[in-house]
Amino acid sequence: MISTPAWRLEHTYTRLPGLFFTEVEPTPVEMPQMVIFNEALADELGLPRDDAAVYAGNKLPSGARPIAQAYAGHQYANFTGLGDGRAILLGEQITPDGGRFDIQLKGPGPTPYSRRGDGRAALGPMLREYLISEAMYALGIPTTRSLAVVTTGENVWRQDGGLPGAVLTRVAASHIRVGTFEWAAAHRDVEALRALAEHTRQRHYPAIENTAMALFEAISEHQARLLAQWMLVGFVHGVMNTDNMALSGETIDYGPCAFMEAYDPATVFSSIDRNGRYAYGNQPPIAQWNLARLAEAMLPLFHDDEEKTVEIANDLIPKFEERFKHHWLAGMRAKLGLFTEEAEDAVLIEDLLTQMKESGADFTNTFAALSTGSSEQDAWQSRWQTRLAKQPQSRGEVEQLMRRSNPAFIPRNHKVEEALAAATGGDLKPLHALLAVITRPWDHDQKLPEYSNPGSPVGYKTFCGT
Ligand code: AMP
Ligand code: MG
Repeated sequence: MISTPAWRLEHTYTRLPGLFFTEVEPTPVEMPQMVIFNEALADELGLPRDDAAVYAGNKLPSGARPIAQAYAGHQYANFTGLGDGRAILLGEQITPDGGRFDIQLKGPGPTPYSRRGDGRAALGPMLREYLISEAMYALGIPTTRSLAVVTTGENVWRQDGGLPGAVLTRVAASHIRVGTFEWAAAHRDVEALRALAEHTRQRHYPAIENTAMALFEAISEHQARLLAQWMLVGFVHGVMNTDNMALSGETIDYGPCAFMEAYDPATVFSSIDRNGRYAYGNQPPIAQWNLARLAEAMLPLFHDDEEKTVEIANDLIPKFEERFKHHWLAGMRAKLGLFTEEAEDAVLIEDLLTQMKESGADFTNTFAALSTGSSEQDAWQSRWQTRLAKQPQSRGEVEQLMRRSNPAFIPRNHKVEEALAAATGGDLKPLHALLAVITRPWDHDQKLPEYSNPGSPVGYKTFCGT
């Protein structure tokens, strides 16, 4: 479909009760300069190639109605009132094919929810979000996306001194979070809760039955699928607080995230996650914990009778684990080229992972090497070959399935750091080079050891989105 690129903003979110948002304008910055602009995404959204002033918040696009959204959240298990402290939603862009996407500025200055924060963001973390979200998108994993990063010409002040300030334009199916429901529940406002549930259903799950139970089940199913996808590529989100879990089923809020290199379920990257609450292997139970908080918030919607509604919630919550296991096992079978299902598969998979943990094998490269037949034969591989022989598919079909289930390239931590450091110093070449590689993750025929070798043996740490 051909149509002139234009801002076509709607604001269905602002039809919700006033509890859920506050109108607030971005604070203009000194000197907006475009660092990176996602032309392919702009085309999908039907957006014009606007100048840096728009993506810095200095100039509002036509039809914008800027708001900060309110929400609460469990941060490291502690409940707090939050809200967009450094983000402003411009509106919902209607795409040429009828889609609806939130266009949000991240780092546009203070809002009523900023608490002691400055409402600003530094260039490094915004480029990290750009890189990792685009890598996730290329891997086929539901995610918010990044349209633009502009520098502000101003410094932001953090522990380590002054850093170049930046604004990221984030594109999301919506920014409704588990924490948005917790916000309404904390206000004991059942009508607001009901309105939010109906908005969420219409926006993300229009085909389901119009009940709170059906909505919860749909959300749980999408989270189970998402978590399986994270686990299958070794993604560690790093800060799975309930305010960072989107009900659309998209990955959201890239802070101290990274891809695991040596396989170890205890892998943690976030410098503040001292107890490993958000470790790689802990992500599925944490997702279920977050869904339990959602169910609690939704209690008044499940049933009028208090006892009955708790019973319903208690039935719904554990279903996540079954759903997750189902998607994870299906995904692991694909990673090993298995089209059929055998009872022995779970043990075969577990044994491989145990062996990988013991030898400190690189997660991505182990599966990539199995896909291209370039790994050394061992006892486990003979068992795998025997298992492969039990299915009718040819070696070629197996290889094809494996090549599209196991990425050749993920954003390696040392390459991400190198690109961010160079970009912060004004050199964008490493950033563009890395983007070119990680947006073609399935290209096993490209041999780029610099991008596929693990570079950070132990102790890699990332810092919260500052
Ligand atoms: P995050 O850990 O990035 O998900 O952020 C948690 C909460 O802190 C959210 O409500 C953010 O809006 C808020 N926040 C983070 N950084 C800032 C900042 N520089 N200024 C104001 N609020 C912030
Ligand atoms: Mg957040």
